[in-house]
Amino acid sequence: MTKCLFSSGFEDLAKTLTELNMPAFRANQVRDWIFKKFVFSFDEMSNISESDIKKLKEVYSKILPPVEKYLVDKADQTGKALIKLSDGELIEAVAIPGNNTMTFCLSTQVGCPVKCLFCRTGKQGFTRNLSAEEIVLQVMVLVKKTGKKPTNIVYMGMGEPFFNSEELYRSIDILTDPKGLGLATRRITISTSGHVQGILELINRPGEVNLAVSLHVANDDARDKLVPMNKKFPLDVLKKALTEYCSKTGRRVTMEVVLLKNTNDQYNDLMNLINFCEGLIVHVNLVRFNNFKECEFEAASDKNEKEFKKELKKAGIAVTVRSSHGQNILAACGQLSGKTQKD
Ligand code: SF4
Repeated sequence: MTKCLFSSGFEDLAKTLTELNMPAFRANQVRDWIFKKFVFSFDEMSNISESDIKKLKEVYSKILPPVEKYLVDKADQTGKALIKLSDGELIEAVAIPGNNTMTFCLSTQVGCPVKCLFCRTGKQGFTRNLSAEEIVLQVMVLVKKTGKKPTNIVYMGMGEPFFNSEELYRSIDILTDPKGLGLATRRITISTSGHVQGILELINRPGEVNLAVSLHVANDDARDKLVPMNKKFPLDVLKKALTEYCSKTGRRVTMEVVLLKNTNDQYNDLMNLINFCEGLIVHVNLVRFNNFKECEFEAASDKNEKEFKKELKKAGIAVTVRSSHGQNILAACGQLSGKTQKD
């Protein structure tokens, strides 16, 4: 049975080459074609002999897995790929073009166990973690589709990255390896729903990977419901970890807040948010909510959003309103799932 190179992994490639009596440097040649020259067909690997290409093709039917659908939002050119993994599971990855930037948003799990109330992925439930190769292949699929190398990577797609930290960091190692894409760690952001152990572990990791926290609301009762991770790591525990993160790394935390009508957009919510941010090096991202079928929430009004922005600024907190990318193709924040139709 033939398999997909990325789904099988690069350790499997090295083992396969040895079994096929190929020289050890072939593995580096294959990696070079993929990561440096963005060639995704063995036939185009011109420094590999025809007989070795034939052998490789007998083992690996393809380099990348099939893309079931690739949609582009005409409004802002955001692209979304629905990728079929070797066990038939579907994941999504998003390419967001900007002014001189290309940000790829990656998934780390099939579905998500956190079950945030406003999130389409959360509604889907959890199936399994992705391997590092399954995370990296999303990058290569998007490179192939967009013709562009990413300038930034955000682990903000399907799943809670710190629930899959071993494979998360292995994928970062592959993406930052000079033999891989050679991305700088400071171009990478991990977004968590508030997994405190994950945050503490990140402090001691080498490199300058950025941290974003999907905070949304700074009141335990409300956050227990909206972001159930809060039941495991309540706000005081989260704040302690973030304080340690800021003091030990000197790096800023991005605080994501999706403003929802009559849920977290009131004056007391604003005050709680300001209090929570006090003492942290922080940048608040007010994210526009994107509605989807079977979701009971609505976006906060422009008036409330403006009020939050004004008061946060007044309190000396850096704040931006993040525009939603790919809204027309369900590629925006909280809209990803293993489906592409608007169902
Ligand atoms: S918002 Fe993130 S952590 Fe929450 S359910 Fe969705 S994917 Fe999971």
